[in-house]
Amino acid sequence: MSFDHSGLRAQFPILNAGPGPLHYLDNGASAQTPQAVLDAVLAYETTARANAHRGVHRLAEAATDAYEGARAEVARFLNTPVDEIVFAGGCTAAINLVAHSFGATLKPGDRVLVSELEHHSNIVPWQMLRDRAGIELDALPVTEDGRIDLGALPRLLTERTKLVALAHVSNVTGAALDVPEVAAAARAVGARVLLDGAQRAPHGPLDLPALGVDFYVFSGHKAYGPNGIGVLWARAELLEAMPPFLGGGSMIGRVTLARTTWAPPPRRFEAGTPPIGPAVGLGAACHWMASLDWSAVASHEMSLVQRLLDGLGEVPGARIFGPAGLQRRYPVVSFLLDGVHPHDVAQTLDGFGVAVRAGHHCAQPLMERFDLDGTTRASLAPYNDASDIDALLKGVAHAVRTLR
Ligand code: PMP
Repeated sequence: MSFDHSGLRAQFPILNAGPGPLHYLDNGASAQTPQAVLDAVLAYETTARANAHRGVHRLAEAATDAYEGARAEVARFLNTPVDEIVFAGGCTAAINLVAHSFGATLKPGDRVLVSELEHHSNIVPWQMLRDRAGIELDALPVTEDGRIDLGALPRLLTERTKLVALAHVSNVTGAALDVPEVAAAARAVGARVLLDGAQRAPHGPLDLPALGVDFYVFSGHKAYGPNGIGVLWARAELLEAMPPFLGGGSMIGRVTLARTTWAPPPRRFEAGTPPIGPAVGLGAACHWMASLDWSAVASHEMSLVQRLLDGLGEVPGARIFGPAGLQRRYPVVSFLLDGVHPHDVAQTLDGFGVAVRAGHHCAQPLMERFDLDGTTRASLAPYNDASDIDALLKGVAHAVRTLR
């Protein structure tokens, strides 16, 4: 276990494809993919491509082994039993699965608690459930420095609350949730906790059973894996008690024209031919992540965040939207330049070979709360280095000179 930065960066073909340098700081939207993941997908496609869980011929068995092997890699990364890992299309698909399947166990008047800083994918499925099933939806407010305000828990978490669904790490501010505090408060009223781990999973292995939560979701493409694959983890007894979301092949016990029984989890929640190649890629991405020394990676990433915060601190009219320091935050930094629209900042930065995201970040309620059109966001990965931050700061200085 070690952290050789240039060796690590060299593993990412797209970062070295040239001609000019690519300062990729849009990892919160989609991270890049190392050669090991590309190799694993290619090996599946060229040596084991067939349908899983269906045939008895040797390729079908190889495909089933590849798919189930990927599930085992994900389970190792999350420190969970393998049967508690459900593959879904992504984070959004996984939350919709919970909203339908766990949601089917809720009654009118039950409450779900989210927050004002959630990604739309952790708001809209609950609004749809509210409109379908008559549940009520509450939202925790956000503090001035872009954290979920847990001081509001005593007011908003009630005996009627059945689920607390929050971002583990904000995709806008980088703020990390105080999970033990939320888990303890939820447990005290008998509510379940779902964490949206889209922005946390790309930063190293997790011990989900120790977190004290009930559901965890994330997307493969933000965690150095392929598109079209994501994960839902839930405790076995919860999955067992949930009806399926989608119906079709593979998720059944027995089908007659009159009625159908369900397969046990996780297959109950994986109707149809699964995304086998993407799952294999995600398994390889989890394996790749697990091979890194994350305490070294985290101190590298956070030193870059500090460099960015310091650099922006010297730009007149620049403002950080989110925590000012490094405590309980991940390497996602949103900022504003007085008098310059975030889209124009991002466009200028592109001219400097710097990829960042600008806009509302699928968090319109948060933007509304702070009366913002949007922010410019840099989000980091282990392959970033000081040259990426310095290129961004150079582009920001240029934007200030030319756009104000
Ligand atoms: N939650 C958070 C916190 C996110 O950052 C994102 C992606 N921006 C999502 C959910 C949705 O992920 P996906 O689009 O991969 O389903």
